Amino acid sequence: MVKISVRVPNKQAKPSNFLRTTRAGISWPAIPNEKSSQLLALLLQLEKSQWWPAQKLRRAQFAQALNLLHHARKTVPYYQESLAFLDGVLELTEEIWQQLPVITRQDLQQFDEQLLSISIPPSHGSVSEIRTSGSTGRPVKVKRTETFLQFHHVFTLREHLWLEQDHRGKQMAIRSIKGLQRGRAKVQGTWGAPFSLLYNTGQSVVMEITTDTKTQLQNLVKYQPDYLLTYPSNLQEILRHKGDELAQLKNLKQVRTLSESLPDGLRQEVQEKLGVKLVDVYSAHEVGVMALQCPKHDHYHVQSENVLLEVLREDGHPCNPGETGRVVVTSLHNFAMPLIRYSLQDYVEVGESCDCGRGLPVLKRILGRSRDMMAMPDGSRVFPSIVAGAMAVADAAPIMQIQVIQNTLEDMEAKLVAERKLTKSEEQQVVHVLQKSLGHPFRIRLVYQDEIPRNPGGKFSSFISLV
Ligand SMILES: [Zn+2]
Repeated sequence: MVKISVRVPNKQAKPSNFLRTTRAGISWPAIPNEKSSQLLALLLQLEKSQWWPAQKLRRAQFAQALNLLHHARKTVPYYQESLAFLDGVLELTEEIWQQLPVITRQDLQQFDEQLLSISIPPSHGSVSEIRTSGSTGRPVKVKRTETFLQFHHVFTLREHLWLEQDHRGKQMAIRSIKGLQRGRAKVQGTWGAPFSLLYNTGQSVVMEITTDTKTQLQNLVKYQPDYLLTYPSNLQEILRHKGDELAQLKNLKQVRTLSESLPDGLRQEVQEKLGVKLVDVYSAHEVGVMALQCPKHDHYHVQSENVLLEVLREDGHPCNPGETGRVVVTSLHNFAMPLIRYSLQDYVEVGESCDCGRGLPVLKRILGRSRDMMAMPDGSRVFPSIVAGAMAVADAAPIMQIQVIQNTLEDMEAKLVAERKLTKSEEQQVVHVLQKSLGHPFRIRLVYQDEIPRNPGGKFSSFISLV
């Protein structure tokens, strides 16, 4: 008699490396369902277009943008008159493009209803609304189609492929999550869409961004994620926590940041303290993914298949490599609420073309919002190196958190969360260090606080100019 022994694994098997399949018994090559197949078809096209030369990408962008413009002219009350000059235009040129009006965040607030299409093509799917937390406290409402969200998924997947992440690993996200209790870690069986549409993924753990740093670290040690996703300001607090938890993170392979501009030196700090690479993404709720980090470098590639992104000088002319300008962006696929040449009030530095071979334009650095810029006494504006300053301040005195507010051209207020009240000489030292990092002897008043809260969207600004 032949005995057959069956070993029953006591743990759940690690998810397979293959795509999810719809056919019984066929796991390789897989036959995915319709939704996943559409994502994969889009990815296949992106795989090719990323290598196209700049001119070819521009032509394809203009062809798609013209579809959007004609739709806006016909169905969006706000654009009925301003785009009338496009009637009969069959091909866009740079000259025509430059004539299109720029729309601001204030316009979005003022004309919200008039910006909605009264006839969205049914094939674009259902429409949903989001409100972005605005730094000024007044939110902006944006309506987006299911098709727009499909593109959002595709660019998230492209990032996943560029970063060569293993979907079988464990992910931990510490971010602003509606409805999630502060301090609580919620374990989910999968990474969620879009990853779970294509693969059987590993687990993910989510935590609300306002959770205190010590609890975050305890949970990082407890769950041992392969990938960590959070905001730069929160990452800084994690890295500067005085404890041995960081040394206990054994599985960590990558840290991803989003939502805020990345301070100088943070990439290096992550490499030194965690021994892994930091990757950053540039996106906005209104338009989706705008730029992803190059797989080979620290700079970013514009996602030209998703957005037409311009970097403009003050006079409205496009910036050359090495120049910094403001971002004006067109979301190419949102037919519910077309945003054409939308000024985000972000500043970025244009980079030289990349030696990785991708034709997608390069952004060297994402500097931040105009209100993060400091006004110098002569009226010029610069991005302060407040983060380097904050590190030096922490060396000078037991300070856990700092936020500098500029009230006038000469006056600053530095909010501090300190372990104890500082001595007079420590206070003088802090003021001196701040003046040095700001590059001018501003009058600086120190204000002690128990906590410096994040804004309603969970973001933290270490510098705010009210001038
Ligand atoms: Zn590159």
